Amino acid sequence: MEKRDYYDILGVSKGAQDTDIKKAYRKVAKKYHPDANPDNKEAESKFKEATEAYEVLSDEQKRAAYDRYGHSAFDQTAGGGGFSGGFDTDFDMNDIFGSVFGDIFGGGGRRRPSGPMPGADIRQTIQIAFEEAAFGCEKEITVNTSETCATCHGSKAKPGTSAVHCSKCGGTGQIRVTQRTILGAMQSVQTCDACHGQGKIIKEPCTTCHGQGKVRVQKKVTISIPAGIDHGQTLRVSGKGEIGEVGAPAGDLLVTISIKPHEVLERKGNDVYMRMPISFAQAALGAELSIPTLDGNVKFSIQAGTQTSTTFRLQSKGIPNIRNKKYRGDQYVEVYIVVPKNLTDKQKNIIRDFENETGDQTEESKKGWQNIFKKK
Ligand SMILES: [Zn+2]
Ligand SMILES: [Zn+2]
Repeated sequence: MEKRDYYDILGVSKGAQDTDIKKAYRKVAKKYHPDANPDNKEAESKFKEATEAYEVLSDEQKRAAYDRYGHSAFDQTAGGGGFSGGFDTDFDMNDIFGSVFGDIFGGGGRRRPSGPMPGADIRQTIQIAFEEAAFGCEKEITVNTSETCATCHGSKAKPGTSAVHCSKCGGTGQIRVTQRTILGAMQSVQTCDACHGQGKIIKEPCTTCHGQGKVRVQKKVTISIPAGIDHGQTLRVSGKGEIGEVGAPAGDLLVTISIKPHEVLERKGNDVYMRMPISFAQAALGAELSIPTLDGNVKFSIQAGTQTSTTFRLQSKGIPNIRNKKYRGDQYVEVYIVVPKNLTDKQKNIIRDFENETGDQTEESKKGWQNIFKKK
């Protein structure tokens, strides 16, 4: 789907002042705010869109980048293999509420849902080899996370005891509060601070987990990395983050991929680049080269008289497209001539003979460049 222009979304002109942008955003955000439009998907997406636009246009550097490059300024894979979406894009409502919503509405930052808290996401980076990224792989990673306490089964209370009713919220776990905001008075339901939404207060906490209901553990998680993944992309493994409070879902595990540089091959998007040294004789006479590729060595013949920096293309020897393995990038091979060093006397004489035979000194090196400055 084509992304809309950020200025159009907020209904301001390109040269708009910061204050106008803030004002425009406030107007749009108020109209489409999720509190005013419960369960309205369209409003929610409009709200997100406006927030994203505001996040960029309210930041001097981001706005300058957007003015110059448009949306591609923030597209990590611009010019790459055409990968867009399918995985975590690191853009969710919580982040927006944290960074922008809290700032503009003067609220307490992150909007906390009422009821038991879901588990937090865990972020981890994993390093994989060039060819593992190209062809995909399975990796087992160790994650520092939590699991339900086996002593109290998550109840947080010492076995044999139980929690007492919270008097502040009457056991509902929620309290109504009226907040003065920039948009006027807004009434909202918040998690009870006395019982943290549990509706109960624990007098005698479980000693195993110190009343946490969960204990720290290291877990092994096997993740399946798709062929074609690129450096810096993040995989979301749903439900493998921190466990939530009783009755709430676990967070996700977010694994960011880091690809080890390869000795010979360099990746740009789905294409692979390499430089291949050849001798003067191979360049002058032509030769059959053995080229390393992801599929093993392949033969390629260069013509007699091949010059340094000549680049040839091996079709479909590059990285598979992450969405369809059948489509692969190409491999580009740039040859360069290696000039021999530390010659023996015999070798020097052969080369002098060759030079005398061909008179092969370049015109330019003998006479200097002719007529490169045009006289008026
Ligand atoms: Zn416990
Ligand atoms: Zn309470």
